Amino acid sequence: PAHDRLLGGLLADGVDERSCHSRYQSAMYRRRAGRQPSPYLVSKLRRHEALQRRCGPGTAAYSHAQEQLRSGKNHAAGTGSPECKYLVSISYRGLGNRILAAASAFLYAVLTDRVLLVDPSNEMGELFCEPFPGTTWVLPPDFPLTSYTNFSIETAESHANMVKNKVISPVDVGAVSSARELPAFAYIHLDHDATGEDKQFYCDEDQSVLRDIRWLVMRTDSYIVPGLFLVMAFQEELGMLFPEPDTVFHHLGRYLFHPSNHVWGLIARYHDAYLAAADQRVGIQVRVFGSAPNSPELLEQITTCAQKEGLLPELLAEGLPAATTPPPAPSRRRSKAVLVTSLKAWYYDKLKGMYWERATVTGEAVGVHQPSHEEYQHFGARSHDTKAWAEIYLLSLTDVLVTSGFSTFGYVAQGLGGLTPWVMFKPDNGSVVPNPPCGRDVSMEPCFHAPPFYDCRIKQGADTGKIVPQVQHCKDVSWGLKLVPPS
Ligand code: GDP
Repeated sequence: PAHDRLLGGLLADGVDERSCHSRYQSAMYRRRAGRQPSPYLVSKLRRHEALQRRCGPGTAAYSHAQEQLRSGKNHAAGTGSPECKYLVSISYRGLGNRILAAASAFLYAVLTDRVLLVDPSNEMGELFCEPFPGTTWVLPPDFPLTSYTNFSIETAESHANMVKNKVISPVDVGAVSSARELPAFAYIHLDHDATGEDKQFYCDEDQSVLRDIRWLVMRTDSYIVPGLFLVMAFQEELGMLFPEPDTVFHHLGRYLFHPSNHVWGLIARYHDAYLAAADQRVGIQVRVFGSAPNSPELLEQITTCAQKEGLLPELLAEGLPAATTPPPAPSRRRSKAVLVTSLKAWYYDKLKGMYWERATVTGEAVGVHQPSHEEYQHFGARSHDTKAWAEIYLLSLTDVLVTSGFSTFGYVAQGLGGLTPWVMFKPDNGSVVPNPPCGRDVSMEPCFHAPPFYDCRIKQGADTGKIVPQVQHCKDVSWGLKLVPPS
């Protein structure tokens, strides 16, 4: 069958398939083709790959730039090749957060012609294949800023602190800052606790000064892409790269995150054993935060959502069906496979029991499956992260998806799969089932949880969900921002 293994040109050909089976096999596992990247995005990605190869680790340009960083100077006269600039993305918190952070950093790197290097903390080097052919995106261990993983809001070299202390000053658009006076690097703090000053990052004046600093180190746990759409200097380019703004993560995610061979084995075996044969595959992501007890209300929220929206069939009363009409032969019966992911086994267990003990009104056979139940969130444990990645990916292979609001784990699955999910809202009061139990999201894009609340043009606080039409508030996180389809 004509599976488009390169995803419309999103992926470069010529990578040794044995080094990364998922890169070319994943298209066979998806029933829907996914959205097409724009020709402009495709050509930009090829040019960016060339930049990563020309300037990346192991090149003379990289050694020069590293020397410069070590010496604490920005553009030392006569050394290095000034066309090579770098962005280091710190990897921390849960896997969903790390994936969204890396995707955001990549888009910023593409927009500013920087080489993206990913901090290998938390298995980032092991869970994914190399995305750029012929080079590595993993930050080498001899990186001169030895304490970069501890950079925080307090770090003197943060962009906000350097502006406050007049080490750098935001420049008017079009003005040229003198490269010699700039620091060797700047730290960009876009974590959930970022201040208004840190978030001046989303203003053109600040971008003008950052543009000329050779090394940037960025910390974020968020999908900052909607914020990049607020920077006027990026808007034209973003419009050409993404004529459909609601597909940004769909494309970047499928471009960057290829499960490594070990993880791909988990995905492919599970898919083949439990999901492949079903007529329809339903994904249900049940995110249990902290030590929340098993909740009959959340179970009811899940079943009413899935049944009301027609994703799962309703059940007949116990003892039915009466033997009036003979059921179809087993081979002709339609089947659904339900993939539940959760840290807990309880919800899966109850759902499975329901669909075993009672018949469905449609006569469909419903199988319920859950790959793992890790009980609580572990940090820095390889097999735990491996399972999380496999489960995110398996969710992305389903045909319809129900997610838990607020969760980056679900955001990644929906974006990779090109699925606009039904989102279960977090109830204000855990002991009542929200009504409605869920709602169709406005797009498959992740929600940006820590957006700016400032309009750079008028230099005042503002509702940033009302500045450009592509960026609006999220349904699950009211203060968050997300990209929506063109109206
Ligand atoms: P978020 O906290 O929901 O935004 O998602 P993250 O992925 O950033 O962090 C949650 C982490 O908890 C995951 O990365 C996993 O380590 C773990 N986790 C949460 N839900 C699940 C699940 O359904 N399956 C597995 N295997 N791990 C989960």
